[in-house]
Amino acid sequence: MSDGAGHTHVEERRLDEASSRIRVESSAVCGTDVMLHARGLRRPAVLGHHTIGRVEQLTPEVEAAVGVAVGTRVVVEEYVACGHCEECRAGDYRFCATVDLWTGGERVGMIPADRGSGLHGGNAEYLEIGLHHVLHRLPEGLSVDLAAWTLPLANAVDWTLFAGGVGPGATVAVIGPGYHGLSCAAAALAGGASTVVVVGPDSESGAARLGFAEGMGASIETSDDGLVDRMLARYGEVDTVVDTVGSPQTMATATALLKRFGVLVIAGLSGGDVPLDPTLIVRKLLTVKGVRGRAPQAVRRAIELLGEGRTGLESVPTHPVALEDVEATLNAMNTGRGPHSPHIVVDPWRPCHDGGPTTHSSEGEDR
Ligand SMILES: [Zn+2]
Ligand SMILES: [Zn+2]
Repeated sequence: MSDGAGHTHVEERRLDEASSRIRVESSAVCGTDVMLHARGLRRPAVLGHHTIGRVEQLTPEVEAAVGVAVGTRVVVEEYVACGHCEECRAGDYRFCATVDLWTGGERVGMIPADRGSGLHGGNAEYLEIGLHHVLHRLPEGLSVDLAAWTLPLANAVDWTLFAGGVGPGATVAVIGPGYHGLSCAAAALAGGASTVVVVGPDSESGAARLGFAEGMGASIETSDDGLVDRMLARYGEVDTVVDTVGSPQTMATATALLKRFGVLVIAGLSGGDVPLDPTLIVRKLLTVKGVRGRAPQAVRRAIELLGEGRTGLESVPTHPVALEDVEATLNAMNTGRGPHSPHIVVDPWRPCHDGGPTTHSSEGEDR
């Protein structure tokens, strides 16, 4: 359970006997969790919005609504939409006002714990689900560590393959080697790109994360004053840039790297105003696309790619976290002292580091 002011604790919550539920297998942590934990929750909540698990119990109504049977291994999308607005009826539930964080909506991993069982996030042994949860079936043979990549990779599929138009033979630069940057590199590689270059900062953790990108099969570059000239000399202009940082420097780099008719995908926001040079956009006939979240087809494609073993993500180490260690992990991430690997996965059944028993329940989060 997170209070949204930097504190997280473990407490016991009980589900009604008849309630529909997922037995959580893992809950991957992202930057959104760090923000929610530190300052982003209005009321305490169980964090965790990248949830993998197995359906343990369903009421007949929920079973009919979610379309999977008890015993199915699933990934749970964080969107719990209204189900009846224009967007929901068109299948675009990610744009439903109920789940739009820009207008005060909420999602799995940030729903207040004073509502019902309180078990509305992935950082717990069980996640309560209802009529409007979205579940996708996962292959039984997929390892826990790879399965935990499903939603970040699904975002990356949406941003890189769908919005970025990356396909066989494409040349791609991914700016930022974080959780989504590595996922975008994985999507581009799995999508058949011939050149994938990941750009990262000149720091200890930047170097470690670029090392993971290299292990996945991507080329790597460190940002410095000579970056653009060096990249143009080594790789030529590229078809697509996915900018997961979104700062003035990275956007300028992105437009300089793109070839005629290239696509700039803005997948990160660093805050504040960022100048984009309209002359360069016009001269090179560039397309600039904003992205957020992912369409359901991207989740299905991500699951296929993981199942086929084509992402390279198995080479990125997993940093496992017990529920008791979530606070320390999120605080470390908030001050830049987190693990080098961005694949930080809460295992609610993992004994805490001092060997004590794991008791019930949670943490907080979602953006
Ligand atoms: Zn996330
Ligand atoms: Zn809706």
